[in-house]
Amino acid sequence: MAEPEFEQARKELISTLENSSLFEKNPEYKKALEVASIPERVIQFRVTWENDKGECQVNKGYRVQFNSALGPYKGGLRFHPTVNLSILKFLGFEQIFKNALTGLQMGGGKGGADFDPKGKSDNEIRKFCVAFMRELNKHIGADTDVPAGDIGVSPREIGWMFGTYRAEKNRWEGVLTGKGGSWGGSLIRPEATGYGLVYYVQHMIQYASGGKESFSGKRVAISGSGNVAQYAALKVIELGGTVVSLSDSKGALIATDDKGFSPEVINEIAALKVQRKALTALENHSFKYVDGARPWKEVGKVDVALPSATQNEVSGEEAQALIDAGAKFIAEGSNMGCTQEAIDTFEAHRKEKKGEAIWYAPGKAANAGGVAVSGLEMAQNSARLKWTSEEVDEKLKGIMTNAFENCLATAKEYVTPAEGEFPSLVAGANIAGFSKVAAAM
Ligand code: GLU
Repeated sequence: MAEPEFEQARKELISTLENSSLFEKNPEYKKALEVASIPERVIQFRVTWENDKGECQVNKGYRVQFNSALGPYKGGLRFHPTVNLSILKFLGFEQIFKNALTGLQMGGGKGGADFDPKGKSDNEIRKFCVAFMRELNKHIGADTDVPAGDIGVSPREIGWMFGTYRAEKNRWEGVLTGKGGSWGGSLIRPEATGYGLVYYVQHMIQYASGGKESFSGKRVAISGSGNVAQYAALKVIELGGTVVSLSDSKGALIATDDKGFSPEVINEIAALKVQRKALTALENHSFKYVDGARPWKEVGKVDVALPSATQNEVSGEEAQALIDAGAKFIAEGSNMGCTQEAIDTFEAHRKEKKGEAIWYAPGKAANAGGVAVSGLEMAQNSARLKWTSEEVDEKLKGIMTNAFENCLATAKEYVTPAEGEFPSLVAGANIAGFSKVAAAM
């Protein structure tokens, strides 16, 4: 079966490794790459459940246990009608190297189902989660494989699955992360991906401006309106930036005045999302909704772009539009948010325009904050401890700082940038993540 998304992710990684001195310095890593390209194990199963009319429904469930060289398989569960093996293999493959970049001991995996929560009642979603975990529980464990949420799986779904795991196994263990606070979840886990993304970009801005600039006064385009987009937006606002867009699967919501989105509007959006309502509900004198569009060509002048919806949400043409709109920083809150054409456009601009260029950071580095705090949740569960928000946030900041510095130093070491050129963060992330895994293998 063709696996276009997985092939895309693999080629993207390989091209940066091959265009560096990595294999010259470590010839044995070529074999590690061949081995790491095949999941250690793929579990596929049937999920049968009963809808509100009492009818039997069936979906396909999966868990891809990709690589456990660094620790238990770790990665989210995605419930979305587009889920198939190609999507989960691409996500699992990305997850291996992302998890390595957090500096924590976590392997890589991903799972989910082609179940569409849209249009389902709460009761139906709960029944699906229970049925899904009745099978998945046989294959996971706190030291084996620790799933979390992804698209379509929030703390509520994690709760239903965690309860099922406990009932099936008669055991409390930190087998899932992203749990609710009262039953073992870490503080700051809901915020972590969005906050971590903004912390990473803060380092990019500081590096590029020689410490002179920050988010303050910057116009920031964000796509998506889920957990990642919401908390990235709130952190941007807290740091003095202006959020000029968000989006959902049907279109983009664009701010029409200079104030942009306020925390109140973002809270309203969070409430709408819980009810699975569209962002069109927010259209008024301050916001226009552009049907069928993504924000990139609609936002006018921007300084920063944070794709935070789903894979391949920035095309080559949209990448050029962002450059033309003045964007200087682009970092993915989503996994593989940019197409290969978009990455090539950003990387060519980086080489050509040097210090005046746009600077691109891939999701496996920029959005690693989510899984990093999942790793901190595992640590707290094992130690039977609970850290304060401040403690977790400090650790998250440290992890994002290390990830940025690691990408930077690795890019400088393996792909020597020309005079005045920003080091390639995509090469840095790929080489740093991969080498850590290859060395462990
Ligand atoms: N789904 C998130 C990601 O793509 C988080 C995974 C986790 O916390 O295990 O990184």
